[in-house]
Amino acid sequence: RARQTGRRYLFYAGGLDTECTHRLELMGELRRAIEGEELRLFCQPKVEIRSGRVSGVEALVRWDHPRLGLIDPGAFIGLAESAGLITPLTYWVLRAALREGYAWHAAGLAVPLAVNLSPHDLRDPLLLDHVSDALATWGAAPDWVAFEITEGALMDDPIGARDRLVALKKLGVELSIDDFGTGYSSLAYLQKLPIDAIKIDQSFVSGMASSEDSSVIVRSTIDMAHNLGLRVVAEGVETRTIAERLGQLGCEAAQGYYISRPMPVAQYPAWSAAFSWA
Ligand code: C2E
Ligand code: CA
Ligand code: CA
Ligand code: CA
Repeated sequence: RARQTGRRYLFYAGGLDTECTHRLELMGELRRAIEGEELRLFCQPKVEIRSGRVSGVEALVRWDHPRLGLIDPGAFIGLAESAGLITPLTYWVLRAALREGYAWHAAGLAVPLAVNLSPHDLRDPLLLDHVSDALATWGAAPDWVAFEITEGALMDDPIGARDRLVALKKLGVELSIDDFGTGYSSLAYLQKLPIDAIKIDQSFVSGMASSEDSSVIVRSTIDMAHNLGLRVVAEGVETRTIAERLGQLGCEAAQGYYISRPMPVAQYPAWSAAFSWA
């Protein structure tokens, strides 16, 4: 038994080692991917439930790895965060979003692109400079971009985060709290933030189909947000039934597979021309 345990241990350690090497390899490759031409910008529309109008799109990154193909962010955002690469990645997404926004505005499509900010980004002293530089490069108005910030990003350093958000808001960009309900931010704290909207996390939204608890949470979150003067976007909307239910609860906008899967940004103009809520 002892030998077996020993072998299992060795096997486990060997596994970790390979895992480690793999991570290190990926890290080096990710650095090159950000500097090179391997990241791709995808986007997913947010639609006003009442009118069917597209109120914005979320910018979602993909990594087009030369050997592994298209990789979802779930597999490399965490790595980017621990390797100090997330902020360069965010600035890549920001620049790519504005480049696309420039093309869309030239084509008469005025829709803000929302960029995800990670906790590290919010602490970067150069964040504001990067945002204003990127806007200036494309002669962009502030409403060409928006930012989504998770509750977790705020709770590390609530006062500092609030100051950063205030400064960002002064530029005129729209701010949303992402994955709302998964953190522990209090009403009193939210009230102090210069935010425009919250995004209800998809775990609660998809839960509405089967769980009464999720419906109660979604309903009370919407009411609470409205009492604070905030708009509500529901993420992870996968069915018409849930979209309609959200509409009845007064939720302003929906995002999810029912409307569209994330798509390469180049496909968005054709998608939006063809989209109708019916
Ligand atoms: P998120 O910000 O919560 O983004 C929404 C995720 O939910 C996206 O996954 C999207 O494809 C997925 N989704 C959208 N609608 C539905 C639906 O109806 N059902 C289901 N089951 N899923 C849906 P994605 O693109 O894989 O992104 C995963 C996460 O990676 C994002 O979660 C975000 O936290 C992060 N991420 C993506 N792009 C970036 C980025 O540029 N910067 C940073 N910091 N994080 C990013
Ligand atoms: Ca997001
Ligand atoms: Ca989200
Ligand atoms: Ca989420």
